[in-house]
Amino acid sequence: KVRVRFAPSPTGPLHIGGVRTALFNYLFARKHGGDFILRIEDTDQGRYVPGAEDYIVESLNWCGISFDEGIGKDKGYGPYRQSERKHLYQSYAGELIAKGHAYYAFDTAGELDALRKSYESQGKTFIYNWHNRNELNNSLSLSEEEVRSRLESGADHVIRFKCNEGESLLLRDLVRGEITVDTGILDDKVLFKSDGMPTYHLANIVDDHLMEITHVIRGEEWLPSLALHHLLYRAFGWDAPEFAHLPLILKPTGKGKLSKRDGDKMGFPVFPLQWTDPETGDVSRGYREDGYFPEAVVNFLALLGWNPGTEQELFSREELIDAFDLQRVNKSGARFDPEKIKWFNHHYLQQKDNTWLARAFSGLLDEKGITTTLPLEKVVGLVKERATFITDLWEQASFFFLTPDSYDAKASKKQWKENTASLLGRLAEEVLQPADDFTSAPTEAAVKQWIGDNGLGFGQIMPPLRLALVGAMKGPHIFDITELLGKEETISRIQKAIQ
Ligand code: GLU
Repeated sequence: KVRVRFAPSPTGPLHIGGVRTALFNYLFARKHGGDFILRIEDTDQGRYVPGAEDYIVESLNWCGISFDEGIGKDKGYGPYRQSERKHLYQSYAGELIAKGHAYYAFDTAGELDALRKSYESQGKTFIYNWHNRNELNNSLSLSEEEVRSRLESGADHVIRFKCNEGESLLLRDLVRGEITVDTGILDDKVLFKSDGMPTYHLANIVDDHLMEITHVIRGEEWLPSLALHHLLYRAFGWDAPEFAHLPLILKPTGKGKLSKRDGDKMGFPVFPLQWTDPETGDVSRGYREDGYFPEAVVNFLALLGWNPGTEQELFSREELIDAFDLQRVNKSGARFDPEKIKWFNHHYLQQKDNTWLARAFSGLLDEKGITTTLPLEKVVGLVKERATFITDLWEQASFFFLTPDSYDAKASKKQWKENTASLLGRLAEEVLQPADDFTSAPTEAAVKQWIGDNGLGFGQIMPPLRLALVGAMKGPHIFDITELLGKEETISRIQKAIQ
C-alpha cells in the first residue's frame, strides 16, 4: 500500500513551495488509494518557532490537503512529532556504531572551526571524512580506552556516519532517473548531536522506515542528501523507499529561487496564510487574507512543476487526483507567475453561484456601513465577470449604492455636449417618468424608439446617461443598471447630473 508523508520542520511559516510538496504527496496518495501522513520534524531545537506547527496544519486545512495520519490522528505509527520520538533514535545510532557504520566524535566546535579556517587559508574546503578522520578526535582515531573514559566522564560528543571512500553509488529518482555519486566526496554527517537529539538525516530515515513510507516526495533541495540516505538504509539493512525530488520554484523572472523578497517587491504573497513573526511582530501576507480561493491556489500549485501532457489547465480536485502522475513531474525549475494565480482566482470566482457571492459581498457592505434594499444576487451577477477578488465586486458595483458626486473628468469633456443636459432632461420626462415597466428590455426599447423618433444618435444619449448614473464610463449594460436602480433613483441621478 502506498504511504507517503509530508515532513515539514516548524521553523517558520510554510512557504508556498512547501504547500506544493504537500499537495503532490496528497495527490499521489489519493490516486493510488494510499495514506498521506503529516510528520513534524522538530529535532532542531535552535530553529523551533512557536506557532509554526499550528500554522502548517491550518494551511493544509485551508487548502483541503487533508492528511490521513499525523498529529491528532494516530493510526498506530505515532507519535508523529519527532521530539516525542526522541527515545527511539539513540538506539538506532547505537546500532550503527555496533555495526561499524558510525562512530563517536569529540571534536569541539572551536577545533572544527580552526580546521575549517586553516583549510580555507590553503584554498581548500574542509570535509570531515575518510581523508582526515583518522587524525581527528573520534572513536576511529583514539584508543578504545580513551573513548570509553571520555564517554564515561560525560565529554561532549556527536555520532557521525562513516562514509567509505571511492564507491560509485547508483541512485534512482522517479523524476530525475539515474544519478551516480562518488561516496568519496561525501562528508561524515552528524547523525546524533551532543544535545541528545538526532539530526534530520537520522530521524528522517528511521521514521520513514518505521512508518513504512513507500515513496519520498520532497523538494529538490534534498537531492544532495539522497546518497547519504541511501547509505543509511543500506547500513541498517532496510529497503529504501522510492524517491521523487520536485523541481525548484523559480522567481517570476525565471532566474533563481523564489524568495519572500520577490513577493514583497512585486506585491504578491509567498505564504498560504498571513503570518506574524512571534519575535519581531512583522506580518507577512498570505493568499487567504489577500482574497484568493483555496481552489485557485491548489490548481495553480498543481501545475507548478507538473503537467498533464495536455493543454488542460483548469482542474477540479477529482480531475487532479485522476491525472496526477510522478512521471510527468518536470526536472527543470518551475517559474512562479503571480499573474497566473490571479487568472485562476478569476475563474474560480466565476464558478461561485450568485447566492454565495452575494453573501460574501454583503459582508463587505457591512464593513463599509452600507445598508441597501437592492437585490445583491442580481448586483453581483452583473459585475462578477470583471472581478478577480471579492473586493473587486465593490469596486465594480459601488455606484449601485452610492450616488455619484463627481463625474470622470476626461469622459465628461468628451461626452457632455452643450445640449446634453436638455436632452437627458427630456428623456427623463418623456420616456422614463411615464414608463410602467422599468425592467431592462422595455426600457431599452422605449429609449431607442425615442432616440430614433427625435432624429438623435445613440452617442448623444447613451454615454452621458452612463456618466450620470455611474459617474464613469464603466459598469454593466446600462438598462440592467436602470432596472436595478429603479425609476426614482435613475431619474434623481439624471436630475443631479444635469442641474
Ligand atoms: N524536514 C524536512 C523539511 O523541512 C523534510 C525533508 C524530507 O521530506 O525528507 O523539508
